[in-house]
Amino acid sequence: MIQLFFFCPTCQKVNLVPYRETDRSMLERKIGPEYSGVCPHCQRKQTVSVNRIRAKVHPLTGLAFIIALSLSFVLVKIVGRLYWQDDVSRTLDVLEIQAVAFSIPILLCLGLVYTLRRSVSIFNRYFIRKP
Ligand SMILES: [Zn+2]
Repeated sequence: MIQLFFFCPTCQKVNLVPYRETDRSMLERKIGPEYSGVCPHCQRKQTVSVNRIRAKVHPLTGLAFIIALSLSFVLVKIVGRLYWQDDVSRTLDVLEIQAVAFSIPILLCLGLVYTLRRSVSIFNRYFIRKP
């Protein structure tokens, strides 16, 4: 998930923007060239240019990584149990399969984080040209 925000021109605190657009031009098409909202910190109505809005990776993305890690351990356990009845000579095989099972959720999560970071950097790099 991506979070959009801007710094309040009065108190410099972070104000979240309740839109999920991953592209500045899409955001501009949706809300126009300016965003208006009441700052939750200083209670003043602020109007900022779409170009002052920035994107960041949602803090809850860290939670996705924890979920992926737990899923990895669950998969390792399931794979281990499936092979439990096999003889000892196949332990090495089991370890290899467990290693693969362990990496899948983590790799998927890393892919997600990479995609989000790329969207964030694209959003923050491109600005709307003023007419
Ligand atoms: Zn403020």
